[in-house]
Amino acid sequence: MEPHRTLKRQLRKCQGPDGTIDVERLIGLVSLTYQEDEDDRRRTDRSIQLMAGEIEYSNNGLAVATGKLRSTLESMQHGIMMVSAGGIVEVANHMACELLGLPERFAAPPYPLSELIAELGEANVALDEHNTAVLEHVSGRIVEIHQAAAGQGGIVLLIEDITADRQKESALRRAESEYRSLFENSVYGIYRDTLEGQPLRANPALAEINGYASEREHIEAVDRHGGNWYVEPGRAEEFRRILDQDGRVKDLVSEVYRHATSERLWITENAWLVRDENGVPVCIEGTIQDATERISAENALNQLANIDGLTGAKSRNSFMSRLARDVLKPDSPFVLYCVDLDMFKDVNDVFGHAAGDAVLRTVSERLVALAGPQAIVARLGGDEFAILSSFCDYTADPEWLARAIVEAMRVAVEIGGRNHYLGASVGIAEFPRHGDSAEALLKHADTALYEAKAAGRNGWRLFDHQLRMSIEHRKEIENNLRGAIAKQELSLHYQAIVEAETLNVSGFEGLMRWNNPALGETSPAEFIPVAEQSGLMIELGAWAISRACEESRAFGSQMEFSVNVSANQFRSPGFLAHIEGELGRFNIAPQRMILEITESVLVSNRTAARNMLFSLNKLGVQIAIDDFGTGYSSLGYLQHLPIAIVKIDQSFVAGMLEQRANRAVIRAVLGIGRDLGIKIVAEGVETIGQAKALRDEGCQFMQGFLFSRPKPLTEAISDLATGLLGGQPGVHPLRKKA
Ligand code: C2E
Ligand code: CA
Ligand code: CA
Repeated sequence: MEPHRTLKRQLRKCQGPDGTIDVERLIGLVSLTYQEDEDDRRRTDRSIQLMAGEIEYSNNGLAVATGKLRSTLESMQHGIMMVSAGGIVEVANHMACELLGLPERFAAPPYPLSELIAELGEANVALDEHNTAVLEHVSGRIVEIHQAAAGQGGIVLLIEDITADRQKESALRRAESEYRSLFENSVYGIYRDTLEGQPLRANPALAEINGYASEREHIEAVDRHGGNWYVEPGRAEEFRRILDQDGRVKDLVSEVYRHATSERLWITENAWLVRDENGVPVCIEGTIQDATERISAENALNQLANIDGLTGAKSRNSFMSRLARDVLKPDSPFVLYCVDLDMFKDVNDVFGHAAGDAVLRTVSERLVALAGPQAIVARLGGDEFAILSSFCDYTADPEWLARAIVEAMRVAVEIGGRNHYLGASVGIAEFPRHGDSAEALLKHADTALYEAKAAGRNGWRLFDHQLRMSIEHRKEIENNLRGAIAKQELSLHYQAIVEAETLNVSGFEGLMRWNNPALGETSPAEFIPVAEQSGLMIELGAWAISRACEESRAFGSQMEFSVNVSANQFRSPGFLAHIEGELGRFNIAPQRMILEITESVLVSNRTAARNMLFSLNKLGVQIAIDDFGTGYSSLGYLQHLPIAIVKIDQSFVAGMLEQRANRAVIRAVLGIGRDLGIKIVAEGVETIGQAKALRDEGCQFMQGFLFSRPKPLTEAISDLATGLLGGQPGVHPLRKKA
């Protein structure tokens, strides 16, 4: 605080009822104030000096103005004058002259007060009730003259420059009127509430938002309504929580009831706590904007963006955001289906877009009906649809819906009296098994779809990681695979199959290995599907049969050996003759040879498959069903077809100790095997626990890393000779004591 202001105030405080100054009290107050102001000792000293001078002055009447007082007076930032009861100016400093616009000589008292008044002339210096006068100079300077009574009938005049104060005040007034104008005319509702939420002020816009004509009506009504403004329960508490926590609420969108009519509307709110100089909140201020139009426009846009206009299915956008949300919950499995119509392009091209659109609508309806109310059906674009289903039955058998879709799409779509036959292919990916991001899942479902289409239309395919390869990588494999046989890049590794009781090796399965200079060691899981698709598999398969026959002689004349046969290879014209020829060429007893085929081989073109099986049987070779349990899982064919061996897929073995269902499947297959006289081999046995459990269930044969990894011929033979299994010397922990 500026010292002269303080002094003036203190001077006032020290005036007695008769207007005289209690100088002692004044000294006390001034020194107290200035002592507090430790930074400015100089001023403290001066003030005390000044007051000391004043004591002298008041004790001796106005006649005495000591030298000490003089210099103190000159150092003051305000003008001071003392006038005796006799009307003589006894004391005056230069500041007083400057502020009053008087010539220099008036700083050298004594002189009669009348001279001074004459000099001031026209200037209006009438005192108001506080004994204060204001003098405005033409220069714009504004001076305040304060008059106080001194002892013995004299007076003290304190003169100060209040120009800056006045300017501040008027600026403040201007700002205030501007703010008032904003408050009155703003299209935003503006309010001030108590901390408890009682309304103090509300502008016309806010009154209008709430359906009232004036601030008063609004404040009264809102007072009555209390807190029931927000539609959503707990919203008021939420608002308050944010405000208390952050000191402000920013762009909070809520639905509220218009107080006057209880109509609903949307608002955007901003609010802040107003604090006093110590930071303590004193009230709440805020703005409110009617956002109803914006929100309803947004909703309409959302609706547009989320729904496919043509079919009414979900749009790609909304499907993708749903997918992105669902992959955040790893504990909630779901299945993603990509559906692609097989002959749609023909309908569109031949019968026109109107027919095409009608087809898409029908397809969409069928998908929605099949997938059920819990599933999300979306059109991703063109004739591509996707379904996201977390309905639990699908996750137990994800292929069920795919099969149903393929069946349903075989039924003709009738448009304008004409039947259109379409057909569809479906790719399936499961969450979280096949990927944990929306992109990965969609890509994988798409890969599976691609596979399904490549395998012939009207089919479905469940993604598995063998399918993961990119198209480019497939191309690369295909190109390199072409010369693989000629360049002698292929070989067979052999994995032992053991009798469960004795752990004696009963045979070896030949597994293809490919070592390419450019691609390195490539897994058959990668290159065999590519070979199958590109037609190379027939040649590769024939090579494997020849190689296995040739090498099998090294195992002795009794040992069985298995060769894997692909679907295309099995159906290829020279297949049977080739086998017959190789068995003869290497002089091998046919019953030593086991051909491993998968169930899929039996399903398409049943008659041909059946005939081939019987021909092979007649030749004397044995047939094994590989990967049993993963495909069509129909057990009926086992009794009608000449099948000698069933290999339980490794996925059942892997889960058998943890999952009752897996163990139940194994038990059932073993039971059927016993009934039909079919040998059962459990694949993928990796732990002693699994082996023991399988033995307990009565499994006769086992194969897996626990006993031996697939190995080059020479290693497999030396293992056989030394009786080593799985590279472990000594007695195998599973081997029973003789
Ligand atoms: P598959 O016929 O089911 O062969 C068994 C696969 O499981 C082999 O993989 C083998 O290395 C692996 N395996 C064996 N024991 C275990 C175990 O304890 N744990 C685990 N995790 N895996 C085990 P590989 O050699 O990578 O062959 C993959 C697939 O490629 C074969 O599956 C077969 O379908 C195909 N394949 C391999 N060679 C040929 C072939 O000459 N012709 C045809 N058509 N297909 C072949
Ligand atoms: Ca096999
Ligand atoms: Ca297998």
